[in-house]
Amino acid sequence: MRGALGCLVLLVCAAAPARQRAAKPAPAEVRPGLPAGQNTLYPGNREPLLPLPLVKLPVGAVRPEGWLGEQLRRMAQGFTGRLPELSQYCRREGNAWLDPQGHGRFGWEELPYWLKGYINLGYVLGDSRIIGESRQWVEAVLRSQRGDGYFGPAANLVGEHTLGRLEALDLWPNMVMIYVLRTHYEATGDERVLPFLLRYFRWFHSQPLDQLLPASWQKFRGGDNLDHIYWLYSRTGEKWLLDAARVNHERTADWAGGIASWHGVNFGQCFREPGQYYQQTRDVRYLQASERNYETMMRLYGNGPGGGFAADENARPGFRGPRQGTETCTWVELMFSHEMLLGITGDAKWAERTEEIAFNSLPASMTADLRGLHYLTAPNQPQLDRQNKAPAIDNSGDMYSYNPYGYRCCQHNAAMGWPYYAERQWMATGGNGLAAVFYSANTVQARVGSGEQVKIRETTGYPFGDAVKMTVETKKPVRFPLVLRIPSWAKKPRATVNGRELAVPAGAPWLTIERAWAQGDTVELSLPAEIEVRRWPQQKNAASVHYGPLAFSLRIAERWQAWGGEGDWRQYEVFPATPWNFALDPDGPLEIQRAGSVPPQPFTWNAAPLWIRARGRRVPEWRLEPNGLPGEIQTSPVKTDRPAEDIELIPMGAARLRITMFPVAGGETRWEPNTPIVLASHATHEDPPDREGFRFGGARGTKAWIEYRYPWPKTVRRAEPVWGEGNAPQSWRVLVESGGAWKPWDGAPAETQAVRLEVEMAPRRSVELKKWSVE
Ligand SMILES: [Zn+2]
Repeated sequence: MRGALGCLVLLVCAAAPARQRAAKPAPAEVRPGLPAGQNTLYPGNREPLLPLPLVKLPVGAVRPEGWLGEQLRRMAQGFTGRLPELSQYCRREGNAWLDPQGHGRFGWEELPYWLKGYINLGYVLGDSRIIGESRQWVEAVLRSQRGDGYFGPAANLVGEHTLGRLEALDLWPNMVMIYVLRTHYEATGDERVLPFLLRYFRWFHSQPLDQLLPASWQKFRGGDNLDHIYWLYSRTGEKWLLDAARVNHERTADWAGGIASWHGVNFGQCFREPGQYYQQTRDVRYLQASERNYETMMRLYGNGPGGGFAADENARPGFRGPRQGTETCTWVELMFSHEMLLGITGDAKWAERTEEIAFNSLPASMTADLRGLHYLTAPNQPQLDRQNKAPAIDNSGDMYSYNPYGYRCCQHNAAMGWPYYAERQWMATGGNGLAAVFYSANTVQARVGSGEQVKIRETTGYPFGDAVKMTVETKKPVRFPLVLRIPSWAKKPRATVNGRELAVPAGAPWLTIERAWAQGDTVELSLPAEIEVRRWPQQKNAASVHYGPLAFSLRIAERWQAWGGEGDWRQYEVFPATPWNFALDPDGPLEIQRAGSVPPQPFTWNAAPLWIRARGRRVPEWRLEPNGLPGEIQTSPVKTDRPAEDIELIPMGAARLRITMFPVAGGETRWEPNTPIVLASHATHEDPPDREGFRFGGARGTKAWIEYRYPWPKTVRRAEPVWGEGNAPQSWRVLVESGGAWKPWDGAPAETQAVRLEVEMAPRRSVELKKWSVE
């Protein structure tokens, strides 16, 4: 139905002759860009901080419906909404977060991670059970403040946490908990919150410098504290908070100087920190530092659809293919960072980056009933089994199966993903207007103009449909700017007000319509998408297929196999019931197909409302390795003798099993089934180890090595290095792994799964390996 509506809008617009439109201009002022100035109805930034072009509305202002509302309702019934049944960290007995003196167990990040999303889920849904339960934790936290201003568990004063002991003050858990207090304040206006936070930050500001953020997560994630300080300053005007902000920036890891941590979550959460500090310095170089951090990470590790980067705990040199995953914590932290930068800059690219994760990767990180999650989600993940995949994946152990009980940090932190996104469907703008930042079926109720309340009902199947309709409800006509975001992929957007077409300037990411809005006024927007095939030179020329903000994956039938749990809380491995090892046939069709309507849960492999008809050819040599991972992708085009078959591609977020980065069929190069992972002693992010050339570093006389580690045993018969001219080592030798130990290779055929080339560095020159073919 949504699709049909989109067509209808398109037809009406196309039928209106240009001359007639010119003769009857719409009674509205239409211009590209966001309205200037700062909103005066909702608190943005106080001087001298830069004004915010987009200000978050209070939690509860947006009521999501449609598929987004359904995700939230399923969350309420799923692991997030019932986490105390599943997680020891959320149980009340003996919990340090409930104790007025902060004594007890489980006082670190887990409980605040959960509440940081759970309380918002309650207010977004208007769910009194969740609001009531959150309130009990909030009250306990407010009661826990000491005379000097510190609050929360005593164990954090000495850094005793789930993963070890810091022997130093650990402010990280409180950074998370303050988000909970902010939401509580937003929703209730509780007068205790601002004085509580002022006392806390006065205590923070009195600590010796060397004791603030000395190490651990707090050092790499100090941007959260900075966000709190600016929020508090903008509400209280206490000038010393700007000094506290400067101290916080100086004590946070140096994200302005580059990527301060290659840990996936640290990056996802704090690459934004200089961009936040830019609000205070007004020096654009800080904002540019955040953009550079993001672009560097994406250039090195983010070559693929889904909005993430290869960091299956840490980003590692040489591990950047489409089978490397992104942690569920990273998905939600990246989304929140993008949403924050969107508010600071008004730059719509951050909205598109948020959507890329929200539509493609976030849904697939959890089961469709939101009763289980996994740790890692990757572009190519055709099987979700429990077995260990290290060292091909950074973390060892079960990282893939869906589990309501496991993945400690993600299990709690995932709570903020959908609620934070849902709250920002609409944001307040300069000129006291409203911007439709993300599109979904929803109702927003907010103040505009000189403070009048309006309601806007939005109906759409976006991103599965291309039409958006908004209806204004207001007691009397009120003048305010209503802003539409035009995604960059929508090359021919059309917009109407009460049926009259507006002139939409080409390439403008924001369209502001300023007029006196009256009861029943409608805005209709059509955002037609086109199928696009992207090629990825950095990923051996693989191809991915896109339609608007959606990436598409092969439709693979899923066989779910419970391995534990009971009742509502089952743990599942998921196995492919149909073949997955297809190369795209470049001569095949690519045609979009639509179901009649968008189901409440569109993110399932067998009920996705959109799919693409395509043709593929199987590559029999591309198979699962013994560790359950698909073989590393190889250079396209790839030769296959198999016939072309009809295949279907479904939205990536609907594909719990997926191939999203496809080889392309053709050419004469066969797939090499036993492809090794490559490790090296002196690899760097910019110069990862590669079979097609690698430069060794290190001082004269030191040893360096490069290693091939094969999925299956291999008989080594030849292992001849080719050195760059004038860049040979002092000496070199080949070692083979046998029984877990390295032994020098004597040149006779040897069966092994790992082979190493060890070099002794030469004086005054680097060593360049042009190629090392092992046969
Ligand atoms: Zn996590």
